[in-house]
Amino acid sequence: MEGYTVLRVIGEGTFGRALLVHHERSGQDYVMKEIRLPKSAGAIQNCRQEAVLLAKMKHPNIVAFLESFEADGHLHIVMEYCDGGDLLQTVKRQRGKLFPEEKILHWFVQMCLAVQHIHDQLVLHRDIKSKNIFLTQSGTVKLGDFGSARLLRSSMAYARTYVGTPYYVPPEIWENLPYNNKSDIWSLGCVLYELCTLKHPFQANGWKNLILKICQGSYSPLPTQYSYELHYLMKQMFKRSPKHRPSVTTILTRGHLAKLIRRCMPAEITVEIEQQVKKEFRGQKDKIQVKKDRETSAKDKNVPGPRKQHWDREPPSTVLNVLQNASLLASSTAEEEEDSEETPTGSCIRKYGEEKARRRWVRKPPETLLNILENADISLAFQTYTVYKP
Ligand code: ADP
Ligand code: MG
Repeated sequence: MEGYTVLRVIGEGTFGRALLVHHERSGQDYVMKEIRLPKSAGAIQNCRQEAVLLAKMKHPNIVAFLESFEADGHLHIVMEYCDGGDLLQTVKRQRGKLFPEEKILHWFVQMCLAVQHIHDQLVLHRDIKSKNIFLTQSGTVKLGDFGSARLLRSSMAYARTYVGTPYYVPPEIWENLPYNNKSDIWSLGCVLYELCTLKHPFQANGWKNLILKICQGSYSPLPTQYSYELHYLMKQMFKRSPKHRPSVTTILTRGHLAKLIRRCMPAEITVEIEQQVKKEFRGQKDKIQVKKDRETSAKDKNVPGPRKQHWDREPPSTVLNVLQNASLLASSTAEEEEDSEETPTGSCIRKYGEEKARRRWVRKPPETLLNILENADISLAFQTYTVYKP
């Protein structure tokens, strides 16, 4: 804490507090996230992931990292302070008055640029929601909270442990299928919908209904004042099958949104998108060349070429089936998250703002996911959870 003066607490985080601090050397204000370090070495490693991944991200639409250090049993992550609050607060402040389409697009494009930057580095955010998207007074959007983010080993890889906020969770998660970049697209779609309607797309008064609505992809259409292009984009982002959802690069460069961007975005944003496309195109060309080289060398050696990669899909299972069998851990990066080696020892439900009795561990065989969810208030569905698959 040396070199910093605490000004005030600005957020009760899932794993600790977020403080507004004054950095004496630079004379600037920053946010310091304090995360209680867990006991086991593996779990500590998981906590450090947030700092490691945030430090890797350098983009005008991602909260900038300053430094991180460990002291007094806590990990401290110092980052840029976004003085305009979060998007959820902005939506609530509207009191039912819809935003103009231009404003929505201006925010949405910046969110897409942030997500494109992280996906380019094979990082999944896994907790995109209006509460994790911050604003500055000058109107710049910054994606934050990398506490659930995860680095994949390859662009084709899928993550198996699920982390997220139930209201923003895509159908594939509830259907026990792995998570990839298209799952972030679904969550981003939920944020876009909230900006257009000031409501959440999937609303229900109970868990079963919420999950069924998400899995059916049933939501009320956007208000008619918005363009056909925006309606169409919404539909694409809420495709039930992840492979039918557009990637963030597709959203930014092809089809309807690209036209809208050209029409209403400042020139520097259009230039950035074009640069990204060129980069991606070069990457694809390199991949094609590597593949061709491999095939040629395989032919020369008279051995079969590389086989197309297939992802093992688990046997089709109904949503409720999965829910009956999965165990759930709420807010638990403190626990180890090692794909396919997960050994949950119990289950816990944790509520925001409950400073003391935060974790209630149930030291008996894990209850079923639906069991746990049914006993929890539906308002908890706006919080970050980790679901360990059985
Ligand atoms: P959690 O994992 O608990 O959701 P967050 O990183 O989202 O942690 O931080 C918790 C809260 O602290 C946020 O909801 C927000 O109110 C505040 N906060 C976090 N980072 C910033 C930031 N860079 N600028 C402004 N407020 C922030
Ligand atoms: Mg958060």
